[in-house]
Amino acid sequence: MVDFRLTHEQQELQNKARRFAQEYMIPYAHYYDKTGEFPRPIIQKCWEEGLMNLSIPKQYGGPGLGSIEQCITVEEMAAGCAGMTTSIYVNTLGAEPILVAGTDDQKEKYLRPLTEELKFVSFACSEPGMGSDVAGIQTRVKKEGSNYLLNGSKFWITNAPHADYFTVFASLDPSKRHKALCAFIVDADTPGVKTGRPVEKMGHRASTTSSVMFHDAKIPEENILGGEGNGFGIAMKTFAMTRPSIAAFATGLARAALEYARDYVNKREAFTQKLGEFEVIQFKLAEMYMKIEASRALYLKAAWTTDNIGDATVPASVAKAYATDAAMEIASEALQIHGGYGYIDQYPLEKLFRDAKLYQIYEGTSEVQRLILGRHVLSGYEPAMDKIPKWYAENPPDF
Ligand SMILES: Cc1cc2nc3c(=O)[nH]c(=O)nc-3n(C[C@H](O)[C@H](O)[C@H](O)COP(=O)(O)OP(=O)(O)OC[C@H]3O[C@@H](n4cnc5c(N)ncnc54)[C@H](O)[C@@H]3O)c2cc1C
Repeated sequence: MVDFRLTHEQQELQNKARRFAQEYMIPYAHYYDKTGEFPRPIIQKCWEEGLMNLSIPKQYGGPGLGSIEQCITVEEMAAGCAGMTTSIYVNTLGAEPILVAGTDDQKEKYLRPLTEELKFVSFACSEPGMGSDVAGIQTRVKKEGSNYLLNGSKFWITNAPHADYFTVFASLDPSKRHKALCAFIVDADTPGVKTGRPVEKMGHRASTTSSVMFHDAKIPEENILGGEGNGFGIAMKTFAMTRPSIAAFATGLARAALEYARDYVNKREAFTQKLGEFEVIQFKLAEMYMKIEASRALYLKAAWTTDNIGDATVPASVAKAYATDAAMEIASEALQIHGGYGYIDQYPLEKLFRDAKLYQIYEGTSEVQRLILGRHVLSGYEPAMDKIPKWYAENPPDF
């Protein structure tokens, strides 16, 4: 059965997230974008409203919601402020390796506290010399007695200076690439763990991004996730779970851009008529609308796959690649529709434009999604019409 309707509970959650975005995000988005301050009071409110850490199962104190619920919530909040939503959502990304591979004890110890008070977990995979090529991780780990010793640096880690703990990916031997990767839970107050100064960013300025350094940091052996050599699989499973939400982020931002443009063309006049009366402008709005509808359908399919079938690697990459490219195009067109006003910071368009760009970069670039999909078409994909090549072979064209 195909059904595009949200359930009553999903609609209530969507309305709650929409109200939160309108009351607590939109009015403050400009301030936090300008100052680059960490929006802790907004995130605290989000936590109190129960709109954070949605993936944590009920048995560990969370709401135990599925990927569809996470995505529809994220779409609403990203329409309010992309940067704040990144800082909110990164807990879900950081906690996912524990959901994927954690033991009951690890889940109890590290997931439950996220539901009892506002705490932060960051996902630490990327490094100064490596982002797309996860198997190329250089951060080293070696077993010493009942501990692991961690040495190396991570870069681009969202919320790092605020994190209570990290999920960290490191290698027993970088020459063995993905076979040697391990994942760990690392408490932020572990001696030898230090975070760097936040970097100045083009967009998502309400989220803090910094490096994390490990110098002989002693990680108790019980903090390894899924055993030695399983880190690569844990990272890939994590991305398959979280990429539908990045597509939903992009859909929310794009929707906001369309709505600002719609409002503007109904007011602004040029050549003695409203901008919205020009067919060229209507066609731009139509293109934007089609891409938003397609983005939403794709993230819902990916989220549905996660919730009902399991591995959503392929639909998640389709949704992430399509929706994030679409958001960049839509933000650009919405800015264009605003003319010069789109280019100044008294209108929200230039912020949306700057914020949209990140979606094509983090959690696997647009190119990485296409690598995954290209490989899928050449290997995993089952042709629906296998008789066609056979028919052509038996009936060669008669030139
Ligand atoms: C604001 C921000 C927040 C972030 N937050 C986090 C976080 O919380 N945790 C975390 O671990 N990481 C985080 N990242 C890192 C992010 O995931 C990486 O930046 C991203 O994966 C790309 O890696 P890179 O920057 O090293 O680029 P590279 O991997 O060096 O890629 C550079 C370019 O080459 C392309 N490219 C690379 N390989 C190929 C290939 N095989 N074929 C074709 N093209 C290729 C890429 O698509 C890209 O266009 C964040 C990044 C930013 C900017």
